[in-house]
Amino acid sequence: MTQQAKTYLVTGGAGFIGSHLIESLLAAGHRVFALDDLSTGRAANLDAVRRHPNFHFARAKVTDSVVLDRLASQSDVVIHLAAAVGVKLIVDHPVETIEINVNGTEAVLKAALHYECRVLIASTSEVYGKGSRIPFAEDDDVLLGSTMKSRWSYAASKMIDEFLALAYHREFGLPVTILRLFNTVGPRQRGRYGMVIPRLIAQALAGEAMTVYGTGEQQRCFCDVRDVVEAIIGLSEHRQAVGRVFNVGSTEETSIFSLAERIRTLAESSSPITRIPYDQAYSPGFEDMQRRVPDTSRIHQLLGWTPRRCLDEILASVVEAHRIHTQAIRPLGTGSASSELLAREVS
Ligand code: UDP
Repeated sequence: MTQQAKTYLVTGGAGFIGSHLIESLLAAGHRVFALDDLSTGRAANLDAVRRHPNFHFARAKVTDSVVLDRLASQSDVVIHLAAAVGVKLIVDHPVETIEINVNGTEAVLKAALHYECRVLIASTSEVYGKGSRIPFAEDDDVLLGSTMKSRWSYAASKMIDEFLALAYHREFGLPVTILRLFNTVGPRQRGRYGMVIPRLIAQALAGEAMTVYGTGEQQRCFCDVRDVVEAIIGLSEHRQAVGRVFNVGSTEETSIFSLAERIRTLAESSSPITRIPYDQAYSPGFEDMQRRVPDTSRIHQLLGWTPRRCLDEILASVVEAHRIHTQAIRPLGTGSASSELLAREVS
């Protein structure tokens, strides 16, 4: 461990990124509180850490000021990951998306200010919207679509989060850092909220048609969650990250159609690849981004960070994780481990 042991509060700690982050923080000798309402996160994601003596879990909404205060009062650093996730969830539940994102971040910033915590706020590459100047740099202008299209409410709500966090920094000196996370992938990510890789892998392994939305020519860069976790922890430990915004993501581009082909090969599947119009996949008038590539020179300059795993390596590990998961004989429900975790919640 290079740094002094600290206490971290991770909101959204039972989520896909949160659970990987917590494992790394504990392995580095830190104490960790996880706050999660288990709406999209899962207690089972924390199976590997639930018995760890330095780990404590609280099941509550991030807007629950009593619980948030109790945890923040004992923490040095808050990493705020709790948010509405996934394009599908956002399109289906726009009110919830806006409320969770804006009210949750406001609650976290207030608590962090009161208890003098360092704060990292997870934002998203969605804030670049339909910008077409590739790659996206942190200080670029943003171009969002019409307010009639609910997809953009996610980007707008995250922009408010960023504005608010930076305003707390400027007005009150709160040490905040904004992370703009680009497409992140790895074991435990679920496809039910729209994320493409777990969906395509599940379809390929089940021998079902693989659903590529639109033409499939749209491109994305996928970053391994373990690389993302290193970036988050590195930024949380660096003084010069305070008051700044950082892109975190991979720059290796793939089209979604070629992604489907690579997954099909890795999964040794003979599933057909089917193109589905966006209107059918999401909602009428849905707008997608054609390309989304981060400029990561800022984080590279500060931490020397660059993703270590290439897409083929990431896909192979996620296909393997899906295979193991589907083969595992699990008891009904989420299993005894998860129930035990809930029994150990901090009160
Ligand atoms: N996508 C797809 N099939 C799916 C789910 C998503 O072709 O079953 C597409 C989606 O339209 C987008 C890309 O894959 O162009 C990445 O989608 P995801 O929701 O993972 O992330 P986004 O980049 O849209 O936030």
